[in-house]
Amino acid sequence: MFDASQLVDPMRLCRLGETVEGECVPADLSALQDALHDLDGFIRYRVEGGHSTAHKPLLSVRITGHVQLTCQRCLEGFRFDLDLQTHLELVPDENALPALEEEQAGWDVIVCPERLAVADLIQEEILLALPVAPRHATGDCGVSEPREAGTPDHPFAVLRQLT
Ligand SMILES: [Zn+2]
Repeated sequence: MFDASQLVDPMRLCRLGETVEGECVPADLSALQDALHDLDGFIRYRVEGGHSTAHKPLLSVRITGHVQLTCQRCLEGFRFDLDLQTHLELVPDENALPALEEEQAGWDVIVCPERLAVADLIQEEILLALPVAPRHATGDCGVSEPREAGTPDHPFAVLRQLT
């Protein structure tokens, strides 16, 4: 299996239409760890070289798996599922970067490094995909939402009013 710490030549991947894929754990991705609750988790990645419809070199990155994030409400860890797909168009230098307004979701244009550590690419894409304020799904959190004014304290209070 491909080791994510290995360096690849992104332009070569695109030219040859090669794919690298493998699995790693959060402990392998040092830059990601500050954003995580603990090192529990699992990451599967696939980086496919090719070309866009405009014949530009393009890396298609797919990442699935799960990591543990810290809920900002109760500070407990919870499982966050990763399922992201992004396309990175490679340009030779900064002059070829598009103006900001041309950017679109799921599509980035980056200056292509000669050598790229796949692990760096993966952790950067994961960091971009993480929520700014991670929270348990409603109902899963140990800390309840602050009540809005006028909400009955007890669900049966409403029933009592009806009778
Ligand atoms: Zn919570």
